[in-house]
Amino acid sequence: MTLTVAFVGLGHMGAPMAAHLAGAGHRVLGHDLVPAAREAAAAHGVEPAATAAGAVAEADVVLTMLPAGRHVLGLYDDLLPAARPGALFVDCSTIDVADARTAHERAAAAGMRSLDAPVSGGVVGAEAGTLTFMAGGGEAEFAEARPLLAAMGEKAVHCGGPGAGQAAKICNNMILGVSMIAVSEAFVLGESLGLTHQALYDVAATASGQCWALSVNCPVPGPVPASPANRDYRPGFAAALMAKDLGLAADAAREGGVHAELALRAAELYAAYAERVGDAEDFSGIVKTIREKTDRKKTDRKKTDGDRSGQRA
Ligand code: NAD
Repeated sequence: MTLTVAFVGLGHMGAPMAAHLAGAGHRVLGHDLVPAAREAAAAHGVEPAATAAGAVAEADVVLTMLPAGRHVLGLYDDLLPAARPGALFVDCSTIDVADARTAHERAAAAGMRSLDAPVSGGVVGAEAGTLTFMAGGGEAEFAEARPLLAAMGEKAVHCGGPGAGQAAKICNNMILGVSMIAVSEAFVLGESLGLTHQALYDVAATASGQCWALSVNCPVPGPVPASPANRDYRPGFAAALMAKDLGLAADAAREGGVHAELALRAAELYAAYAERVGDAEDFSGIVKTIREKTDRKKTDRKKTDGDRSGQRA
């Protein structure tokens, strides 16, 4: 069935996602605050809309792909009164679980239906149409959104009620952030013990240390040719996005009273790393900060040992 879709937020992710929907034959009315983003989308079959409210007026489905929860909630205040009664609002941004639940409540209060449906797969997945969607909301809403999700991705999982998609997203990325730090520390320890990267990789990739951070996004150059480490850590999945997602996971853990020591520490380490590199480096580049701190520690230790032997002489 051909649907009229309003797509708001035509950035790195939203632009290719909207283009896939248009390519699948849907009528897509696209809006972004940045005029150049609207013009670029028009070249891919999206009808540019000068305002977000104008884009949603005729839409069966309203899709949003925005930076953070405050953008989504701010925009919903404008869009909900402008949409057709019963329209389906699908937010694909990665946002706080509490904000996602608030968005669902506001949609219901305005007589609309809604899903949270964040994605994994990054810009490469958005361009290739191979994203994974994790959805929260009703079964009927998920079934209705499914053909659209299928046009933009290759997998969609219904995770539960309102906010469950966001919950699955931050729990998954919490595993990823913590495991990337663990893999990076293991490589730096291996370097210190005289192990080659290849030797550690050959053992761990087929042993119990195996995980995505090691076998797909390996943080050292060599063992996995396609990993960002082989191209000066150009993203991939930017450090700033990992810092954002771990911040959301840490907030959720604190709010829920969940004992999550490693996740809280990982959030701190990624916040500090992202402050330096922003979105210019892949999150696997954190291995360099672990190596730098190791080198500094070794230098300090040598200096202290030298001072002590000087005092003894
Ligand atoms: P982006 O900054 O490239 O795009 C966001 C777009 O939203 C921008 O073009 C901005 O102008 C627009 N925008 C902001 N406020 C607006 C408003 N009020 N009205 C209209 N447009 C508005 O970000 P992105 O990389 O596309 O990420 C979007 C979301 O997807 C984020 O929540 C991010 O965490 C999530 N995500 C990103 C990736 C990735 O690899 N980039 C991967 C998974 C999930």
